[in-house]
Amino acid sequence: MTRVATTCRLCLKPAQLMLSHIIPEFMYEETYDDKHRTLRVDRQSPSRPRTLQKGLRERLLCADCESRLSKYEAHAAPIVKGLPTLPIDPSGLHLESQFVDYRLFKLFEMSLLWRAAVSNEPLFAGAKLKKAEPRLQEMLAGERPGSRHDFGCTLALIPQTVHLDRIIGPPVRLILGGFHCVRFQIGPIFWHFFLSDFPKAHSIPKLFLTEKGRLTVVLPQWNEREILLGIARALTDPGV
Ligand SMILES: [Zn+2]
Repeated sequence: MTRVATTCRLCLKPAQLMLSHIIPEFMYEETYDDKHRTLRVDRQSPSRPRTLQKGLRERLLCADCESRLSKYEAHAAPIVKGLPTLPIDPSGLHLESQFVDYRLFKLFEMSLLWRAAVSNEPLFAGAKLKKAEPRLQEMLAGERPGSRHDFGCTLALIPQTVHLDRIIGPPVRLILGGFHCVRFQIGPIFWHFFLSDFPKAHSIPKLFLTEKGRLTVVLPQWNEREILLGIARALTDPGV
């Protein structure tokens, strides 16, 4: 008989667990066709994609925690969908909003990282946090967003993509500018969650959501074709 987990992974209380999205459903919207189908491609069998009617879900949360994370999602969804329409700052290198609710959006960002980190789904293996995960769980369970430096996240957007907006890549662990981070590619938006402390006045934390509600989105000069080739290589090369 299958043993059903009955402890909420977030509040750690005994509970009937809900089927929770790992990546929120609103982030899958662009990947669906007109019959609400998307494809899952695994490295084990890249030429035989499976059809999904909903984003990947897992029994993780009690009803209370699920509804709390839904509240963050409801706040974040219109902001994330509206990122491409934000005004460009005077440098021409970033999009910027000054009006984001720090607490709700930061908790949303942290919930995205945490769900992937605790997922048993092999596609999310790259988001494992090891030592940092209990601290992230405690902060989320207590609804504490911390300072901008706690699990700080940078956003980058590739405008006017042809194919990338229909693709969600598996999270990957990498080192950027000498600092450990976990990268999510969700459509044309790249989320980099940094796990290291930065020296004072380092430039990367200047891109994190600020406590006053300034959200910065980098406009990198990345080539979509190169990114697509990287995703294809990761799926077909067993050494990646
Ligand atoms: Zn719970």
